[in-house]
Amino acid sequence: MTSGNAAHKTILVVGGGISGLTAALEAAEVGYEVILVEKNPYLGGRVAQHHKYFPKLCSPTCGLEINFQRIRNNPRVTFHTLTEVEKVEGSAGNYQVRLRRNPRYVNDKCTACGDCAKACEVEIANPFNFGLGKLKAIHNSHDMAFPNRFVMDAEFAKTDAAKKLVAVCPVGAIEPDMQPQMVDLTVGAVIWATGWQPYDAAKIRPYGFGSNANVTTNMRFERMSSAYGPTGGKIQRPSDGQAPASVAFIQCAGSRDHNYLPFCSRICCLASMKQATYVREQYPDAQVTLFYIDLRAMDRYEAFQKKIEADPKVEWVKSKPARIEENPANKNPIVIGEDTLTGVRYRREFDLVVLATGMEPNAALQPVPAANVPTDDYGFVVNDGGGIIAVGCAAGPLDVAGAVQSGTAAALKAIQALAQVKG
Ligand SMILES: Cc1cc2nc3c(=O)[nH]c(=O)nc-3n(C[C@H](O)[C@H](O)[C@H](O)COP(=O)(O)OP(=O)(O)OC[C@H]3O[C@@H](n4cnc5c(N)ncnc54)[C@H](O)[C@@H]3O)c2cc1C
Repeated sequence: MTSGNAAHKTILVVGGGISGLTAALEAAEVGYEVILVEKNPYLGGRVAQHHKYFPKLCSPTCGLEINFQRIRNNPRVTFHTLTEVEKVEGSAGNYQVRLRRNPRYVNDKCTACGDCAKACEVEIANPFNFGLGKLKAIHNSHDMAFPNRFVMDAEFAKTDAAKKLVAVCPVGAIEPDMQPQMVDLTVGAVIWATGWQPYDAAKIRPYGFGSNANVTTNMRFERMSSAYGPTGGKIQRPSDGQAPASVAFIQCAGSRDHNYLPFCSRICCLASMKQATYVREQYPDAQVTLFYIDLRAMDRYEAFQKKIEADPKVEWVKSKPARIEENPANKNPIVIGEDTLTGVRYRREFDLVVLATGMEPNAALQPVPAANVPTDDYGFVVNDGGGIIAVGCAAGPLDVAGAVQSGTAAALKAIQALAQVKG
């Protein structure tokens, strides 16, 4: 790929979420060549999975679309989906990188017409919706996916059923025999933007996620509330599809707890307040209860909190629940704990419970494949002034505005690293 002096003026961005997109575009728009790699079949990261943004409560789709338009219009950004970094060697100004490009099994002739999905009889759990609902084994990842191109499930690609689909495609885009490719390149700076994933709620055993169908998580709730999600936007009890009359949000589910995720993710209080509005909009008579240790809605977000507090149907209980049981008669979750303001113990039944789980850095689960990249105690990448620059939630928990700001800052740091290269 890129070679010679130009290579040293090229920036590699790893991760195509909002922070990586911002860093890539900011650098490209002032004249630098950027290669952006993303392991998913689409760009946008976790933001693409949100129903609405706090505090404005608008859809994230338009913000992402503006970034995708900037990419379409900028020949300096080359992006590769389904791609990961195998190794990085070298130092600022001269990194040798090996990329692994995993097969999509659908080439770039695809027009997303959907004929293949119609003909495909095999279904898989929908990964974009955290396994909620099914989709065809050849599919577009979600309705707003960029690039707008189908992808085939890797296990399905090995079957005869996949081979039969080749003839269905009117433009010859389906290739079940597609193989992974290794690509070597040289770049001058690397921006690490691999973001976060939802903390695994099943690890918080007293809360019964996984065994009690009506205990869900905040990210699943985002998908359930979305018109493009598994229920078409209808908030419902997973056990019976009924509309919930009472919904509890449990803050710091696993967070700020040395047994699980020791730090505060900063955004969970605001995310639950936002999700309270989803419930109240859809069900004007529904009661919402927020269980919290202390509320964290800093600076300009305080006004958002005040707005939610003004709703008489939203109750606030200062308490970290001890456990959740299930009422076997109706599968209602029963939340058990002590109100720390009154000292009164409670045992309260709800139709649906949402666990506000935090953000675990992907870099803790899949470390940066390079020597001497420091991480903190939680696995967030520490910026130590070298040519590998961590950004967004790879460096620490952030809201979208913070992730965008850090993307811009990372672009500048990468440009400074390149400026030190002679020639
Ligand atoms: C329930 C919930 C609701 C939220 N709601 C809001 C809200 O309303 N408003 C708001 O401001 N913030 C909200 N947030 C926070 C928001 O999601 C983050 O600020 C945002 O996702 C940060 O973007 P990012 O680019 O740093 O990370 P991510 O969105 O995680 O993007 C990282 C990207 O890197 C990719 N990647 C990971 N590993 C690799 C690898 N090894 N190689 C290549 N690519 C890789 C991932 O697939 C992903 O596309 C919410 C968070 C939660 C938990």
